[in-house]
Amino acid sequence: MLALQFQFDRSQWLAPEQLLAHQFEQLRLLIGHARAQVPFYRDHMQRALMFSFAGVNAASFKRWPILKRADLQQSGQALLARTCPPEHGGLVWQKTSGSTGEPVRFATSALGALFQDALNLRAHLWYGLDFRRKFGSIRISELSAHADDWGSVTRGTFATGPSVWIALNEDVDRQLDWLLREQPAYLMSRGHTLHSLIHASLARGVRPVGLVALLSYADKPPDDLRILAERAWGVPVFDGYSANEVGPIALQCPEHGKLHVQSENLLVEVLREDGSDCAPGEIGRVVITDLHNFAMPMIRYEIGDYAEAGAPCACGRGLPVLARIAGRATHMAVDAAGRRFWPLTNSQVWLDTPVTKRQFVQHSPTQIEVKFVAPRDLTAEEEERIRAGLVVTFRTPFDFSFTRVAAIERAPGAKFEDFISRIPAA
Ligand SMILES: [Zn+2]
Repeated sequence: MLALQFQFDRSQWLAPEQLLAHQFEQLRLLIGHARAQVPFYRDHMQRALMFSFAGVNAASFKRWPILKRADLQQSGQALLARTCPPEHGGLVWQKTSGSTGEPVRFATSALGALFQDALNLRAHLWYGLDFRRKFGSIRISELSAHADDWGSVTRGTFATGPSVWIALNEDVDRQLDWLLREQPAYLMSRGHTLHSLIHASLARGVRPVGLVALLSYADKPPDDLRILAERAWGVPVFDGYSANEVGPIALQCPEHGKLHVQSENLLVEVLREDGSDCAPGEIGRVVITDLHNFAMPMIRYEIGDYAEAGAPCACGRGLPVLARIAGRATHMAVDAAGRRFWPLTNSQVWLDTPVTKRQFVQHSPTQIEVKFVAPRDLTAEEEERIRAGLVVTFRTPFDFSFTRVAAIERAPGAKFEDFISRIPAA
């Protein structure tokens, strides 16, 4: 674990082309292994009517067929390697949270799991966490519990303080009670969960004691989470983008706050519709190759998210930048001219209103309903101010209507959707 940290410390400063050269060295091993040992990939090229695949290089890799989530669901067993290099250790089974349909079972090797832990440890080190403190998390779990240490990420390398956790699908008021009682120094959860928790604390006029920082992971956090955390609790947010299938994908730069792709473990592509790479500022499909999972190789896996490719970071790290996670295709808005785009849904217009949660539902190319949760109705003046702010962030004069609701429903364990389109995709 410490040897990996030592190597990460050096590799993060490599030039982008050097990083890419190292990734392709590993990719050749992975693809050679996958074609020899994994039934699914044996036929992968034939299925895509590609009969020759001489060598792995930047051009040929772009022709490697995309692995869809449906492939994972339908061909789970066929994606398992018949044999795996013994040094990679045994199989580690996991499953996705089922946020976008049926949960998918998938495997990695002990080595693949080690890399994921190592990148989580890197995040702790980047953010300067004090391992002696108490670590709290709100996560997918059956129950709330505690442990004497922080778990597999630090076990064996750092002596730590205790950790506590509570279930993600627990009621927000009970999560808040738990937070007030446990008083962890760090709190990790999905961005939308942290956002709801802060609003619940404001509504009750209480504030957690001893909290030092928030860590968000998984999906796109609400745009106003950072400012809300600063204002309400006086703590920073460290943002990470991750998925159960592959672990940490991008982590917040310790100096500039941008998301750095974790290139030592994953080759992350952001692709235009025609399959070419997005330039900085463009939004495209996120496609991921796990360079160390030889147990169930994920080669060019389309994870379902869209992200904006970013320009290199001023910190000097060669790790590529994602400017932002745009969300899933269901987050796309469409305007009257038929142009589809990812709206920035949350702006500061909400900060001085009673609204604690909101969701946008687009019903027609001109009409968007804003469902919101609040202890009272909005005044006409508040509605007008929010509407004016939304026209600016959406950059389109939609007809915004407001509906106060008791709660915004979602499936258990599902990710929260900011924006839902009821318009069929063209
Ligand atoms: Zn940076």
